[in-house]
Amino acid sequence: MEKIVNLCKRRGLVFPTSDIYGGLGSTWDYGPAGVELKRNIKEAWWRDIVQSRNDVIGLDSAILQHPRTWEASGHLQNFTDPLVDCKGCKQRFRADQVNGRRCPECGGELTEARQFNLMFRTFIGPVEDTASTIYLRPETAQGIFSNFANVIDTQRVKLPFGVAQTGKSFRNEITPGNFIFRTREFEQMEMEFFVRPNTDEELKWFEYWVQARFQWYVKYGINPAHLRLRPHAQDELSHYSRGTTDIEYLYPFGWGELEGIARRGSFDLDQHAKFSGKDLSYFDEESKSRVRPWVIEPAAGVDRAMLAFLLDAYDEDVVEGEERIVLRLDPRLAPIKVAVFPLLRKGGQPEKADKVREMLQRHFTVAYDQAGSIGRRYRRMDEIGTPFAVTIDHQTMQDDTVTLRDRDSTEQVRIPIAGLVNTLIERIGWHC
Ligand code: ATP
Repeated sequence: MEKIVNLCKRRGLVFPTSDIYGGLGSTWDYGPAGVELKRNIKEAWWRDIVQSRNDVIGLDSAILQHPRTWEASGHLQNFTDPLVDCKGCKQRFRADQVNGRRCPECGGELTEARQFNLMFRTFIGPVEDTASTIYLRPETAQGIFSNFANVIDTQRVKLPFGVAQTGKSFRNEITPGNFIFRTREFEQMEMEFFVRPNTDEELKWFEYWVQARFQWYVKYGINPAHLRLRPHAQDELSHYSRGTTDIEYLYPFGWGELEGIARRGSFDLDQHAKFSGKDLSYFDEESKSRVRPWVIEPAAGVDRAMLAFLLDAYDEDVVEGEERIVLRLDPRLAPIKVAVFPLLRKGGQPEKADKVREMLQRHFTVAYDQAGSIGRRYRRMDEIGTPFAVTIDHQTMQDDTVTLRDRDSTEQVRIPIAGLVNTLIERIGWHC
């Protein structure tokens, strides 16, 4: 993990938040390369979950929502973790994460556990009183449930169908840590898949989404041996869940949740119907009756996914007698798709390289670098996982060909500039 954290800082993937003030306990900022990687993860998810399917549509609901939302959803009452204090050093821990009754830091005695609500509270408007208290959303899902009527009234949807969204969520975690694995501000990719309210349909789609989501991580490069499915025991289920299976990844600190797939039944729609007094049912043409659908929810974290992709892609090897660090990221996720280098800073090469860069920028994220030895320039790119590098050299000036270097094999082939875009599109796997 140490190596990844250092690489992330050194190459502009992830910086500690408020670095110049000494940081803000386990919050992180995404640097120029990191923001691209994160966007690509979200893009890949959106493309696969929404744009390439006929049964899922998108939504982008607000972070600040009516406080009744959290009463209805049960978060106000149940979204808690057991908190213990150390009587000696005063540190606080999640009771389910410490072994025994002693402080893991100083060995002091721990207090009895009490329930600590994880929602961040703030006020809406200029008056700071109970009536104006609102919460930063702890999950994106509720915005989907509270828009259920809007969606079915305005869209031609037929059961089963899903509504997906990505966005920030906030949880005042007692013990954040492990880099971007557990933070208080993070991004989620969630989808509520509404099905006919019967167990056969529910279990069929639950199984479908568990498998589909597992395979999604494999598709973008995670070694399946580093992934496993873990069904929740009855006593660890969230208050809304009838059954949950986590997709776990083998992080350096052990197996940890990457994504959870939950059977939420009609819990949320029932609660919102009750609290809002609105009719949140759906007219099912097939059975000619009004039903309140049940829900399967695949809920993933962007930051945790990014950490897993980074860890799985990290590699060290030796090229021409020199050690190198390389991120073997799937080209579709790589922050920069192609780097353009003039070999020399003379002979018209920089001008030519500029033209090639312009051409490529219409299709891909491109880096341009003309400083230092070519070997060093390749290494910088290897370290952020840039899959391809194009070099403009003496021969380019004569026959309009360039060398195209592959990050993983480090092999170079000579190809005409005119064929570059198509070759890259083919090798990356899609247009970006
Ligand atoms: P955990 O048990 O690790 O606290 P959870 O079961 O509370 O997670 P869910 O409520 O299922 O998490 O949230 C769905 C996804 O959101 C998680 O699988 C994870 O990827 C992401 N997520 C949840 N909490 C955090 C956090 N504090 N930091 C980063 N990502 C998070």
